[in-house]
Amino acid sequence: MIADNIKNVTQRIARCCEKSGRLVDDVQLVCVTKEASVEEIDQAIEAGIRIVGESRIQDAMAKHRIIGDRVTWHLIGHLQTNKVKDAVKMFSLIHSLDSLRLAKEINKEAEKLGKVQDVLVQVNISGEETKFGIAPGGIVEFLKQLSSYRNINIKGLMTIAPEVDDAEKVRPYFRALRQLRDKINAMHLASCELSILSMGMTNDFEVAIEEGANMVRIGRAIFR
Ligand SMILES: *Cc1c(COP(=O)(O)O)cnc(C)c1O
Repeated sequence: MIADNIKNVTQRIARCCEKSGRLVDDVQLVCVTKEASVEEIDQAIEAGIRIVGESRIQDAMAKHRIIGDRVTWHLIGHLQTNKVKDAVKMFSLIHSLDSLRLAKEINKEAEKLGKVQDVLVQVNISGEETKFGIAPGGIVEFLKQLSSYRNINIKGLMTIAPEVDDAEKVRPYFRALRQLRDKINAMHLASCELSILSMGMTNDFEVAIEEGANMVRIGRAIFR
């Protein structure tokens, strides 16, 4: 049952926060619905879910037309520049800003809508060739280049850890992302205060929370 799964995940998050001396309210749960039907999403909302994460624009729009803004919509998947217009219309937070070209497009479309689009910069913290994201060493420069974009608000960083059999193996990546966030904040770059750390999925969210995640993206533990 979806409601039971959500209760279970919520309890695990709470226990983990307690264990690491964090406040439960400090960690936001993004319920990843990319493989869920509208009916299943409805059940999740009934069970208390307030944020849903989708990875493909087309699917997200179809679901959004039915479900509407009873929940907050986050984009967690890679965004192509030709889909930006639709993305800016429906998503409160885009987790996957990974290029200057994309930033330029988001800024342009947000400006047209009179919106300031909240975004996270996706970081390829593990350096895997198959992963999207800015390399850790290029983040500061990237953020500086974004500083002139008035219709983008950079709220934090996001990463996807490598798939491993034991979540302990990805702890160093989560730690590295938190340290990167702290380092950037200590630099006091213009209009750039990074508060959100979006990291941790079904297989590794507890380790991510222990390392400072305040937004976890969970799909399979809820819907499978
Ligand atoms: C699918 C997906 C998730 C959720 O993964 P689960 O293993 O189902 O919890 C989180 N983040 C991103 C970017 C995803 O694509």
